[in-house]
Parts: sequence; structure tokens; C-alpha cells
Amino acid sequence: MPVFVENEANAGAHGEKEFGVAKNYENLIYVSVSTGIGIGIIMKNELYRGVKGLAGEMGHITIDLNGLKCSCGNRGCWELYASEKALLKSLPHHLQKSSLQ
Ligand SMILES: [Zn+2]
Repeated sequence: MPVFVENEANAGAHGEKEFGVAKNYENLIYVSVSTGIGIGIIMKNELYRGVKGLAGEMGHITIDLNGLKCSCGNRGCWELYASEKALLKSLPHHLQKSSLQ
């Protein structure tokens, strides 16, 4: 059986297109907000990746030019402030440990 590795947002978009609520649509956007923020884009029944394969990486859009340093190399990326990871980091220290386990 072939095995494919895909990011969460693209896999979610594909799943909804093949088996879910979007199976009767040729265009859709799947938004994933969890440890990061990403979108999967299906256009004309095909997963859209963009020129460099990063079309759905919305979480790495800069919202604060002088913001926190992100693992992608930019500063102030959206997911540093609005993802599940950001929420957990904002909790008091004693709650972070129990939430991350
Ligand atoms: Zn980033």
C-alpha cells in the first residue's frame, strides 16, 4: 500500500474533498488551527501548493514586524499568537506542565 506524508491542513482538505462535506465541491479551503495555523486549498479538484509548496502556510504570515522570533526565521508570525501552542504558552507556568502532558 502506498504511504504519503502530508501536512495536517493539506491532508484535512484532501480528506474533506474525498470523504467529507466537500466531496461535491471542486474548490474549498480547509482551515486548521491547532499547534500551528494552516490552510489546505483545493482548486478545480486539485490540491494547490503554490510555487514553492507553501501556499497554505498562513500561520507564518507576519502580523507583528517586531514580534517574537519564529522557527521559520521570520518575526511576528500569526501562529505565535493564535495557535494552540501560543495559548498553552500564555497559561501560568503551573498549568503549562499539566496541559502539555
Ligand atoms: Zn513563522
